[in-house]
Amino acid sequence: MNDVARAGFTYWIMGGKNTMSELWEEGRSTEISVAPLRMLFIGEDQNVFQWLRTFCEKDLEQPVLLTFCDKVELGVAEWETGAYEIGVVDYDVVGDTCLQLLREASEGSHFRAVIVLTKEPQAELAESLFDAGASELLEGTEAQRPKLEHSLHGIWEKYCLTEELKENDAVMENIALGAKDGLWDWSLKTGDIKYSSRWKAMLGYRDDEIDGHIQEWFQRLFPEDATFVESSLGSFLESTEDVWETEYRIRHKNDSFVWMRSRGVAIRDTEGQVVRISGWQMDLRERAATHDVLTHLPNRKLFLERLESAIAKNQRDPDFNYAVVYIDLDHFKMVNDSLGHGAGDMLLVEVSSRLKKSLRSFDTVAYMDPEREALADWSGKTQSDVKESLVARFGGDEFAVLLEDVSLPRDAVVVAQRLRDDLSSAFEVEGHEVFSSASLGVAHSKTKYTNSSDILRDADIAMYRSKEKGKSECTLFDTQMHEEVKARLALETDLRRALEREELSLYYQPVVSMKNGAILGFEALLRWNRKQASFVSPSEFIPIAEDMGLIASMGGWVLEKACRQLNAWHEMFHSSLTMSVNVSGRELIQPNWVESVEAILTLTGLDPKSLRLEVTESSFLESKKFAVDSLNRLRLMGIQIQMDDFGTGYSSLSRLHLLPLDTLKIDRSFVQHMGGQKSRSGIVKAILTLAQDLQLGVIAEGIENSLQSEQLQELGCRLAQGFFFHKPVPPEVITSLLRLQAGKNPG
Ligand code: C2E
Ligand code: MG
Ligand code: MG
Repeated sequence: MNDVARAGFTYWIMGGKNTMSELWEEGRSTEISVAPLRMLFIGEDQNVFQWLRTFCEKDLEQPVLLTFCDKVELGVAEWETGAYEIGVVDYDVVGDTCLQLLREASEGSHFRAVIVLTKEPQAELAESLFDAGASELLEGTEAQRPKLEHSLHGIWEKYCLTEELKENDAVMENIALGAKDGLWDWSLKTGDIKYSSRWKAMLGYRDDEIDGHIQEWFQRLFPEDATFVESSLGSFLESTEDVWETEYRIRHKNDSFVWMRSRGVAIRDTEGQVVRISGWQMDLRERAATHDVLTHLPNRKLFLERLESAIAKNQRDPDFNYAVVYIDLDHFKMVNDSLGHGAGDMLLVEVSSRLKKSLRSFDTVAYMDPEREALADWSGKTQSDVKESLVARFGGDEFAVLLEDVSLPRDAVVVAQRLRDDLSSAFEVEGHEVFSSASLGVAHSKTKYTNSSDILRDADIAMYRSKEKGKSECTLFDTQMHEEVKARLALETDLRRALEREELSLYYQPVVSMKNGAILGFEALLRWNRKQASFVSPSEFIPIAEDMGLIASMGGWVLEKACRQLNAWHEMFHSSLTMSVNVSGRELIQPNWVESVEAILTLTGLDPKSLRLEVTESSFLESKKFAVDSLNRLRLMGIQIQMDDFGTGYSSLSRLHLLPLDTLKIDRSFVQHMGGQKSRSGIVKAILTLAQDLQLGVIAEGIENSLQSEQLQELGCRLAQGFFFHKPVPPEVITSLLRLQAGKNPG
C-alpha cells in the first residue's frame, strides 16, 4: 500500500514494502528502520519521476519521501532546507545552478548522493559536475532507465539501510545521521499521533514515557511558541498548502528548552481535507553550528571554512581565483527602531532570499566582459565565467559572499553591483514598503592572500569606503586603501598620546575691526605638532578625536589654555580683548560640560564676558534641546555664543531666533566669492540682513584680499578674521602685535 498525495509540486510517497505505520505496528520502530529516505527530484520529466517512484515502491525496504519539484526556484528552495539524503537533478532544466546545489549538498546537509541527469553529458561538463561533488552523471532518456535504477541501487547499497551493512562503522555513522531527526505521523481523523523513538529521545524520553497524544508535543512547547505553533497549524489546515513548517522551543526532560524545526506534509482526502500529516522534527542546534537560525544562511564559521579552502586552492592553482563581497545594510537600525525588531528580522530574511536569488541568476545569466567583448555565459564557458557562490550572514545586518572562479576583480565588481542594485528596490515588511540599500566592499584574490582574516579585513575596508562615499556604493579594495587605513590607525595611536606628549599647542588668529584693523580679540585654533610627521590640520584630527572619545579632554585643555592666555594679555594690555574657543558638537552634549566650563572659568579667574564659544549648526542636530539648554546656562553666566561657519549647515532659518546665539560667523566659502570681477555677494547680504533683524553680531571669516574687505565694509560688516589681516600665529607673535598696537595707541 502506498500513500501518494499530489501536493502541488511535492509528492509524498510512503514507498517500500511496508508503510511507516505498518512498520510501527510491527514494533519495528527502531530508529533505523523507520527513518524514511528523503529524495528530491528537480526536473520537468514526469517519466523520470515515475521511474523513481516505481523504484522506491518496488525495490526499497524503507519508506521514502519523494519530493518532485518541476519549478527550479521551488526545487532550489527545497534543496536548501538540507533535509534530503538523495538528490536527482535534471541538468537540462536546472542548468548551472546545479553546481551551486552540489556545493551546498557537500556542506553540512544530509545529502549522501546526488545524481545528475542530462541528455548530453559532455566531458567538460562532466568534469565540473564531478568536481563539485556529483555522485553520478546519467543520460536522462528512457533508454537509460535501467542505468538510473542500477545507480540508485548502488547508492542504496553503499549508504542505506540494509541489514548486512550494519557491521560497517562508516555506514553506521551515515545511518545514524539519516536518523538524526524524529518522526511523527498524525491522523487527524482519530487524533492519534505516533512519535518515533528518536522523536522521544530528542526530548530525553524513553519510548514508553510518551504516548500517542498531540498534547505530548504541544504542552511541552515554550508558552509563546505554543500560541504561534497552534495558530500557524490552524491557518495551515485552512489553506491549500501542503507543507507545514514551523520552529519552536520545546521542553527537554532535563527542563531546558531546545530549538526544533518541524516539517510535515499533508495528506488529503478526495475532498481536499487534510486527513493526516506526516513529518519529522529536526534539532536546530546541530544546524545552528553552521547556519544562521534566522535566515538559514550559512554562518560565519561555515563561510570561513569555504573561504580557507578557496585560498588553499588558489595557492595550489593560481588560475583559480575568488573574491569576497562584504555587505552591510545602510539603514537597518532605522528599520529596527521605527518598525520594531520583528520587522527588522523579517527584513533580514527578505534580504537573504534576495541575495540568494540574485546570486543564483548570476550562475546562469550571461554577463558582458568589455575586454573580451564577448557575451560569455555558461554555454560557452571559459574558466573565468564560472561563478559559484556562497552567501553567509555574519551577524546583525552584515552578509558576506564568496565568489569562486572569478578571474578578474572587475567581474567580481559586476556581481557586487548587481547585488547592490537588487537590494535597492523596496522590500515589503509587515505591510510597509521598506528601502534598505547596502554598502558593499569587494576584495579579490589577485591581492595574494594567505589567510581568511586578511581578505575579510580588506573587503571590510572597501565596504567602509563605500559608506564614506555616501552609502549604496560598491568599492573594490586596492592596496592603497590598506595604506590609508594603516595611516589612520597610526594617527589614532599618536593622537591618543598627543596630549601627554605635549604635542598640542594653540595658535591665535586676531579678530579685527574692519574700519581700522585694530585687534579686538582672538580665535584659539588647535595645532598638533605631530612628531616625525607632516602637518595635520585640525579639520582632519578633530573629527577623529570625536570618534575616539578624546574630544572632551582635548576641548577642556584648549579652553583652559586659551583662558589663561587671555588673562595674561589682559594683564599686559587691556581687558576688553575677547577669546573665541571652538566647541565640538560632541562636547556640547556631554552631561557635565557646562559645569566643566564653569570650573575652568573659576580656576583661571577669567571674566566670562570675555569668552565666546563657537558652535556649528550641526551641534544642534543630535540633541537639540540639551544643546540649547546648555548654551542658555552659559549665556546666563555672561558667555557669548557664536554660530561658526554659518550658512554651510542645515539650520532652519525660520527657527534661528530660537537658538541661544549672539553672533553669526559668515563662512569663508561665501566671502571667497566676493571681490573680483564675478563678485557674488547675495548670500552675504542676506546673512547681514538676517543678523540685523535678529539683533545678532556678525564676523566675516576668511578675508584674503582688500577687495573682499572693502566690499564687506560697504555692506556694513564691522568685524573680520582672515589672512588679509592676520594668519593664526603662536602666542608670542600676538604679544608682539599687541605691543605694536599699544605703541601706536598709547593709553
Ligand atoms: P574654524 O573654527 O572655522 O576656524 C577658521 C579656520 O579658517 C582656521 O583653520 C583658520 O586657520 C582658517 N582661516 C582663517 N582665515 C583664513 C583665510 O583668510 N583663508 C583661509 N584659507 N583660511 C583661513 P584651522 O585652524 O585649520 O581650523 C580648521 C577648523 O578646525 C576650525 O574651523 C574649527 O572648526 C576646527 N578647530 C580648530 N581648533 C579647534 C579647537 O580647539 N576645538 C574644536 N572643537 N575645533 C577646532
Ligand atoms: Mg571657529
Ligand atoms: Mg569657521
